[in-house]
Amino acid sequence: MKPYLPLCAMVLLSACTDSSDVINNSAQVAKSAVSTIDTIKTHEPAFDEARFRQGIQTLSSDTFEGRAPTTKGEKLTLDYLTQAFSEMGLKGANNGSFLQAVPMVSYTASEDQQVNFGGITLKYRKDMVLSSRHDNQHITIEKAPLVFVGYGINAPEYQWNDYQGLDMKGKIAVILVNDPGFAKPERQLFNGKAMTYYGRWNYKFEEASRQGALGAVIIHDTKPASYPWSVVENSWTGAQQDLVQDKAVQDARVQVEGWLTLDTAKALFTKAGVNLDNLMAQAAEQATNQALSLTADIHFNNQASYSDSYNFVATLPGATADTNTKSASASSQKSQADEHILFTAHWDHIGIDETKTGDNIYNGALDNATGTAGIMEIARQFANQAKAGNGLKRSLTFIATTGEEQGLLGSRFYAANPLYPIDKTVAVFNLDSGNIYGKTSDYTIVGKGQSELETYLIDAAASQGRQATAESNPASGGFFRSDHFSFAKYGVPAVFAGGGSEPLDTVTAEYKTMMQAKMKGCYHNVCDHYHQDWDLSGALQDMSVYYMAAEALGNSQDWPGYYSGSEFNQLRPAKNGQNGANKVAAKPSSAHTVSSK
Ligand SMILES: [Zn+2]
Repeated sequence: MKPYLPLCAMVLLSACTDSSDVINNSAQVAKSAVSTIDTIKTHEPAFDEARFRQGIQTLSSDTFEGRAPTTKGEKLTLDYLTQAFSEMGLKGANNGSFLQAVPMVSYTASEDQQVNFGGITLKYRKDMVLSSRHDNQHITIEKAPLVFVGYGINAPEYQWNDYQGLDMKGKIAVILVNDPGFAKPERQLFNGKAMTYYGRWNYKFEEASRQGALGAVIIHDTKPASYPWSVVENSWTGAQQDLVQDKAVQDARVQVEGWLTLDTAKALFTKAGVNLDNLMAQAAEQATNQALSLTADIHFNNQASYSDSYNFVATLPGATADTNTKSASASSQKSQADEHILFTAHWDHIGIDETKTGDNIYNGALDNATGTAGIMEIARQFANQAKAGNGLKRSLTFIATTGEEQGLLGSRFYAANPLYPIDKTVAVFNLDSGNIYGKTSDYTIVGKGQSELETYLIDAAASQGRQATAESNPASGGFFRSDHFSFAKYGVPAVFAGGGSEPLDTVTAEYKTMMQAKMKGCYHNVCDHYHQDWDLSGALQDMSVYYMAAEALGNSQDWPGYYSGSEFNQLRPAKNGQNGANKVAAKPSSAHTVSSK
């Protein structure tokens, strides 16, 4: 993920030991997973840890060059997946092909950016990063007024408009990261500590564009952002990929977007004669904006290049009517093979940074070779079950998405251009950055309280003796930060879950402490390498939960929906309306939720 979803790694941390009991108690698990459904036979997933490990190691090897879209690393990755899924006997979902072309444009801003804000010359990478999503060779902005717009939020349902009374034409918005609920949780603004979509950088650039601004820069702040400046620098320099947009959409986008360090912003505001700390405090209490009586000059070169990247989409067809009528009741005789349950995991990562010396390959072992190898292993188990005559009624479709790190590009494209109709898409199970910290006694559901789909996870996890909980850090906006969100926007119940915060035992706790120290600072960094001493039992345990949940759902006629408290409720409502008590997901307005990007 991009600083977007970055947190998948941190949110899903969990803990561990050996994987044997996951597998041993899964039959029992499956039974309880199904408690709400009629008659479903269940089977233990016999995951092969060595093969799972091998998959992670291969995908994250230097040979795969960090798996950036449209590079040699992509070709190697797609070939690897094609071979693996062909051997399992799955079908290409795109008229027999496993590949779905995703038209992308890549923008590269020159490193020699000449940027002067209010008389202060800013250094690229050190003080700021800027980019442009326009096909213009030269970005030239002179004397553009800088306007502080608080959190940059226009949210009628919260009676909050930071742009109140402003005409942003020709101006550059300077914006705080996250939302007021994070700064002042005691005031219960927005969704309290849990980040809303209004706190995401993509929303802020979209809103500044809707306001007609010329540019938009976000002030980085480690705590509310939930990641350090290095993540911004690594993710926002070099080629920036995007989906090819309609011209009207592209024309409406701000000319320049980017980030400032907090120190740079402080110096800037001081120069303007205002105190940033005071303004930040005010912006967290009420909608706030203030012209800074400073202007900006910005010059850099910008290159756009167009090429296709690919989603990898493989299907294990559900049983046909013929094969499942033998013992079935009349009501279930109709084939459900046109109904699809999706597993998603992004195959892409950041690639190589040629400007770096030394190790410059972003191997993305945790993020997201673990998830990609994970869906391979889950698919293999279901394929084996189907060969043994235990296929599911519904079809299973496995999507390794592209461009997740650049803004959920592949999943957004698939959801807008599905190979199977969205209204025949039952659910999405997303894997992103598996648990390398060993087994846990709890089970984390990101954005818990969203949809009925989670009841399947809760039951399956309970059968492992694990209690499902919301993520410990909803402030990082995890529900908006990985591919499941692209499907939620279309009303398809989608979950992102796994790991936990409670290591299973003291040995696991010690291992977790050790491994967390080893992996520290490696999120979206070149040190996200595969480690031979990773304990993968927690990841396997989580894969079993998904497996059992999908097996129960795959043999049922249930269509889970979103609870009434969810922003996606209207798109596919839950049968029983109310949600559980632990609602923590953010609440973008539906208008924003459904907008692209
Ligand atoms: Zn990721």
